[in-house]
Amino acid sequence: MVPVSTAWGSQPPEGGGLGLAGPRVPAPARPRIRLEGCRRAWKTRRTASEALSFSHLILATGSTGLFPGKFTQVSSREAAIQAYEDMVKQVQRSQSVVVVGGGSAGVEMAAEVKTEFPEKEVTLIHSQVALADKEILPCVRQEAKEILLQKGVQLLLSERVSNLEDLPFNEYRECIRVHTDKGTEVATNLVIVCNGIKINSSAYYSAFESHLASNGALRVNEHLQVEGCSHVYAIGDCADVKEPKMAYHAGLHAGVAVANIVNSMKQRPLKAYKPGALTFLLAMGRNDGVGQISGFYVGRLMVRLAKSRDLFVSSSWKTMRQSPP
Ligand SMILES: Cc1cc2nc3c(=O)[nH]c(=O)nc-3n(C[C@H](O)[C@H](O)[C@H](O)COP(=O)(O)OP(=O)(O)OC[C@H]3O[C@@H](n4cnc5c(N)ncnc54)[C@H](O)[C@@H]3O)c2cc1C
Repeated sequence: MVPVSTAWGSQPPEGGGLGLAGPRVPAPARPRIRLEGCRRAWKTRRTASEALSFSHLILATGSTGLFPGKFTQVSSREAAIQAYEDMVKQVQRSQSVVVVGGGSAGVEMAAEVKTEFPEKEVTLIHSQVALADKEILPCVRQEAKEILLQKGVQLLLSERVSNLEDLPFNEYRECIRVHTDKGTEVATNLVIVCNGIKINSSAYYSAFESHLASNGALRVNEHLQVEGCSHVYAIGDCADVKEPKMAYHAGLHAGVAVANIVNSMKQRPLKAYKPGALTFLLAMGRNDGVGQISGFYVGRLMVRLAKSRDLFVSSSWKTMRQSPP
């Protein structure tokens, strides 16, 4: 959407910036990164191919993946809401739903569909034995499995869907036959795929090719500066930090990157980001869930109160100092 190309050695003009513009960058040795072909993402405020100069840059391009877990199209708010409402209608029409992928998103999805529509058959197909993120406590994963079974979700673990490319996603059909590599066939009305999240490196790939980890994330030092580029920071999913990709962590990265921009301008020591003991809450329908906070198990009641009831919607509005429309 917004390709980035570098023009090494050019001196940025005074005062330009991405809202993060600091004082004029004195040395000519710094790269200037030009945002080109911005098209739709910036259409309302910028003309296409306008070059923006900056003194500091934060890259936070996140990850891409399939709807409904991700909504990556450029779209109006109304169209995005409509897409999710249409998806709910597909679920309502279906007597049987197959969720493919038993990572955290698939576990939450299967639990949520079964909670809202207990009369529907919900099958979760996962290529591994362990459900949810591999970095969470085994007892949390075990409880997640038990909650799914208690709700009546059918689990096909250690089986991989073998005809995924032939299946319609997110659309009701009279009969969809899902096959696995173990020879199992599930006849269903709706297939929801909850895997395939990938780092979204398209904006910076060509500019930072030599700074990328194998998954396309930007290699960063402990200050979250892209290796070798002290005024370019990467945060969130697109930063190569050894921890699960989470909004919670992205928020912590943001605090460190912003503090370090200020610190670098005031010649103060930079803050280090150190992944801490993992906090991870799995919302399993509005009435259930399990997780861990700072590495310690938290049970169903706590997770229900903390996350499952409103999925952080109200706290997100508050964080952005906005009120819900
Ligand atoms: C189904 C699901 C459930 C999840 N649940 C949780 C949870 O409960 N708790 C939790 O902490 N985390 C959760 N996560 C993970 C969380 O969503 C991500 O870790 C988080 O969104 C990462 O934030 P980010 O800002 O790095 O990237 P993103 O949220 O992916 O945002 C990146 C943004 O940058 C925009 N962008 C990309 N390229 C360009 C460009 N070139 N120009 C302009 N804009 C661009 C994208 O459109 C996007 O809006 C969940 C993820 C999924 C898929």
